[in-house]
Amino acid sequence: MTKPMNMPMNMPMNKSKPDDLDQRAIEQKWQDFWEQEKIYHFDHNSTKPIYSIDNPPRYASGPLHVGHAVHYTHIDFAARYKRMRGYNVFFPLCFDVNGMPIEVNVEKKYNIKMVEYDRQKFIQLCHDFAEQNIGEMTRQFKILGECMDSSIYYQTDAEYYRRLTQISFIQLYNKDLIYKGERPINWCPRCGTALADAEVEYRERTTNLNYIKFKLSETGEDVLIATTRPELLCTCHMVSINPDDPRADELAGKLIKTPIYNKEVRIHPDDAVDPEFGTGIVMVCSIGDKDDIEWIYRYDLPFEKGIDQYGHLTEVAGRYSGMEIMDARKAIIRDLRDQGLLTKQEDLDQEVGTCWRCHTPLEFLVTPQWFLKTLDFKEEVLKTSAEIDWFPKYMESRLIEWVNSLSWDWVISRQRYFATSIPIWECMKCNHVIVAEEDACYVDPTITPPPVKTCPGCGGAELHGCEDVFDTWMDSSISPLFNSYWQRDNEKFKKLFPMSMRPQSHDIIRTWAFYTILRSHLLCESKPWNEIMMGGFILAPDGTPMHASRNNVIDPLEVLDEYGADALRYYAATCALGKDNAFRWKDVTEGVRFTRKLWNVEKLMCTNADKLTSEDIQFSNIIDHLTDIDKWILSRYSSIVTQATEYLDNFQFDKERKVVIDFIWHELADHYLELIKHRIYDPEDKQINCILYHLGLGIIKLIAPLLPHITEEIYRSISNQSMVAKAFTRAHGQSH
Ligand SMILES: [Zn+2]
Ligand SMILES: [Zn+2]
Repeated sequence: MTKPMNMPMNMPMNKSKPDDLDQRAIEQKWQDFWEQEKIYHFDHNSTKPIYSIDNPPRYASGPLHVGHAVHYTHIDFAARYKRMRGYNVFFPLCFDVNGMPIEVNVEKKYNIKMVEYDRQKFIQLCHDFAEQNIGEMTRQFKILGECMDSSIYYQTDAEYYRRLTQISFIQLYNKDLIYKGERPINWCPRCGTALADAEVEYRERTTNLNYIKFKLSETGEDVLIATTRPELLCTCHMVSINPDDPRADELAGKLIKTPIYNKEVRIHPDDAVDPEFGTGIVMVCSIGDKDDIEWIYRYDLPFEKGIDQYGHLTEVAGRYSGMEIMDARKAIIRDLRDQGLLTKQEDLDQEVGTCWRCHTPLEFLVTPQWFLKTLDFKEEVLKTSAEIDWFPKYMESRLIEWVNSLSWDWVISRQRYFATSIPIWECMKCNHVIVAEEDACYVDPTITPPPVKTCPGCGGAELHGCEDVFDTWMDSSISPLFNSYWQRDNEKFKKLFPMSMRPQSHDIIRTWAFYTILRSHLLCESKPWNEIMMGGFILAPDGTPMHASRNNVIDPLEVLDEYGADALRYYAATCALGKDNAFRWKDVTEGVRFTRKLWNVEKLMCTNADKLTSEDIQFSNIIDHLTDIDKWILSRYSSIVTQATEYLDNFQFDKERKVVIDFIWHELADHYLELIKHRIYDPEDKQINCILYHLGLGIIKLIAPLLPHITEEIYRSISNQSMVAKAFTRAHGQSH
């Protein structure tokens, strides 16, 4: 922070010194200036050290809310700070334009269902929807004062990006890390697609636990079994009892008949059965929950599909086939009751896995899907993560826990439209897989013909283009590879990879952070970045989550409109990294008060700045003439610079803000300036204007990453009035 500021000096001086600040006019002026002058563009030819930020591509599904605004502002603090430290900063403006959030919004907007709509037309609607949002969000980023660089812009639905996703897939496929498998996967019956474990959101709900009579085949004796999923009776293949249960010796190995279907299944003792749940005896179906899956594997039971991909019961369900899950449940309960087979129902609070987008309870389905081998690389991912500096450090434990809990490989295929195509064709005769050539990408195999005319396996001519698309994390987890020109420019790649820093929020550690580390390891045997900075959430003022249904959402545009970007940024700078922070209006208004205070303080300090010569501001000339109070403020200033630098190096913006603002407000303004005011106009006091010049410039540098507009205004219109600055400007002309 002690180096000269890297602000360009080529702006025409603002001669007028308005007494009243028009904050919004100031902000707009500098935002336009930064844009026109390309101040924040990354310089590919610079010899400065590079600081590269793997900026989160913002979902183009809707306008920013205040949580996003704060999150991106924290990243902007880091970018501006690093630039001031002399780095050539790489900070791309970017958008994530893939997948379900946009599809679901388009379905809502036009009241259509994707699966019933023409594929290419639906993709076009998604594309148009995203483009509209991108324009608005770019404008929002600008008025927040975000210094993102449009010269290295990307969006993830562009062919230049999707091409790279496909190439990365082809390389992993050729390394034998991709396979097609029939494994149970999480399935959203509403969205009609597979979901990765990381996309499952667990929610509490109350459901009915139904006590149902099964009958022993031999004696016809009743055995009560409790279940929350009676509609899955049609796929019951086994009944289980805990071996420690007193009834186990008698029941184990016996055949038992299921109600309604009268199918005979065997009773197996199994210590995975919780004796406290229901009656202590359970039915095992394919597939109600994860326990069922374990049992199906352990006892080699058939996977029978009771529910189809759109949430309807299949022909296995007999008279209930074709019904939606909840209707089938009601119908079967009614029939069980009519036949005297339902003895009681009780409420049960349970946690169910739901779709992260639409919150529909998930089913498990066995369908052919593409998987990326993940379980084999748990150790490597943890080792790579340990090479990355986590800010705050404790956040790494979330990744470690997640990796250790993984029990399935990553299912990377989705049955959706608006996403990157999987670049393969399959032989309809022998299932031989033909992968696209890297040079040919981007390809859409539903349109593009395969690279060969006939199947290399069997000579068959019917080659079917893959209709599945990639999980959107397949795209976003190569963002550091895209940013660093991987597979496009080897020189640039060597300079930019690994990237310096990944900023992201803590709720996507198990997806974005995890998948990026995994793929960087698999493709480049390297960590993707040196540092990872973890943002938290912004809560409503009362500390509850902000949600449209609670009517407590704060629109950042209203805050910006009324108080300006610096005030909102001031609030952002009160939020500790990685923590969830309540929104506090008082911090926004305090921000407004502080910008005014800073303006007035600087005006006083720079009273004589326009008369100062380069000789006048030589510190060595005055060092022997300092008073005790001068020495005090200079030593305080120097220790504040040290502390602030340390805080910013660790992305502790809240602490930096506090020490700097306390210093400016309470030590500098309240004490020092009060005590020395009379000296400013004393022609004999050579040193005071020199001290004030350096302090005045120093404090705006300390606060510039946080409040870039007011500090730029002060820098240009007050402190930059000095003769020295003018001479510098003349010498450098309009170039920089
Ligand atoms: Zn869904
Ligand atoms: Zn074939």
